[in-house]
Amino acid sequence: MDLSSKVVDQSLKARATRVAAIAAIHAEDVDKAGRFPNEAIDALKSERLMGIQIPVDCGGEGRSTSEIAELCTIIAQSCAASAMIFAMHQIKVSSLVSHGVDTGWHRTFMRKICSEQLLLGSATTEGGIGGNLRNSICAIEVDGDRCRLEKDATVISYGKHADAILITSRSHKDAPPTDQVMTAFLKDQYTLEQTHVWDTLGMRGTCSDGFLFKGEAPAEQILPKPFAEIAAQSMLASSHLLWSALWYGIAVDAFTKAQTFVRAAARKAPGTTPPGLLQLAEMSSQLQVIRSNIKAGLGNYEQALSDPDRLSSMGFAVAMNNVKIASSEMILPVIHQALRICGIMGYKNGTPFSLGRHLRDAHSAELMISNDRILGNTATMLLVHKQETGLLG
Ligand SMILES: Cc1cc2nc3c(=O)[nH]c(=O)nc-3n(C[C@H](O)[C@H](O)[C@H](O)COP(=O)(O)OP(=O)(O)OC[C@H]3O[C@@H](n4cnc5c(N)ncnc54)[C@H](O)[C@@H]3O)c2cc1C
Repeated sequence: MDLSSKVVDQSLKARATRVAAIAAIHAEDVDKAGRFPNEAIDALKSERLMGIQIPVDCGGEGRSTSEIAELCTIIAQSCAASAMIFAMHQIKVSSLVSHGVDTGWHRTFMRKICSEQLLLGSATTEGGIGGNLRNSICAIEVDGDRCRLEKDATVISYGKHADAILITSRSHKDAPPTDQVMTAFLKDQYTLEQTHVWDTLGMRGTCSDGFLFKGEAPAEQILPKPFAEIAAQSMLASSHLLWSALWYGIAVDAFTKAQTFVRAAARKAPGTTPPGLLQLAEMSSQLQVIRSNIKAGLGNYEQALSDPDRLSSMGFAVAMNNVKIASSEMILPVIHQALRICGIMGYKNGTPFSLGRHLRDAHSAELMISNDRILGNTATMLLVHKQETGLLG
């Protein structure tokens, strides 16, 4: 027996932890330069994490949203931009898994994602529409067995680095704005002419430039379900849950820095209560609320997956919207508290306690589909939907 050979832990957690270790080395440079986190994404691919959500009979591992959310939290503790790229890719995969398993082209595409570890991008935001996901101006043109699309896509994260883009449009030139479809275009089937530069406060490594997208492909690449169903049954829930999971990761890392800071102060003055200790306890309580909210949302989603009526219900949409609103708003006070605890060491860049990147990245959460827009949508549903009043059921 060769005792020197080490068995590599192939659990999902171990694979993501190895990715996070690489992401951590480059996170500061990725943020400063606003560059794509090549090293972390290469690590995700070499750990074969891109296709894990895809069913086993399409070449994947059939992993659940909860398992993927856990990986987002792990990676976000090192580099939120890398975690966001992983989350957005998995959100696109979730639409293929939920709505593409019955069509030949999409099944083959899922096999290709697994075998070649492809990275999928998303183009829903459009000039003139903004973050109103359920409306499009552009329309896909189907001509025999071909389709063509031109879209003023004002934000496409890692657009230049994606191997394929899933893009929304109206279903035909006379369709109303809400009659939408989503189409998968492969890299060699589209061109991107850059129209906006992503030079932002935070999430700089997502490289979410704007482009004029022009694509042509076989019409069979249009997902067979209306986008209304895709949005309600896979995309909105997985977006809110995976985004929340990674935002939680940012807040957890801020807490860890504050805890390390307070512990060091306690060691320096044994027998005294170090400053920041009570605030740390308060942060721990806030983190528990955020974590419980996300875990409950994940449980709700996974139960609803087997019940299409529940998945499309108002109660479910309200619950998912509420997960997003709460986690995006609650992470900011936690990070702010960490900054107060670490003081100048947190405020300065380049110290073990630096929190500038955390704070800047976390500010994207409330805008990433504007919370005002989401609250407006929930408010309309609450005119008829009954608020949950009990704890069980
Ligand atoms: C890090 C990051 C990555 C992203 N990546 C992508 C991507 O890959 N692909 C993609 O398509 N998009 C992407 N986006 C865009 C994102 O999903 C939203 O579309 C975008 O953030 C919305 O921009 P907006 O501020 O113009 O919002 P809009 O929704 O257009 O809103 C503009 C303003 O109007 C207000 N408002 C809008 N509607 C209402 C309402 N109903 N009630 C009250 N007030 C309202 C809001 O407060 C907001 O300030 C990304 C965004 C971020 C932050």
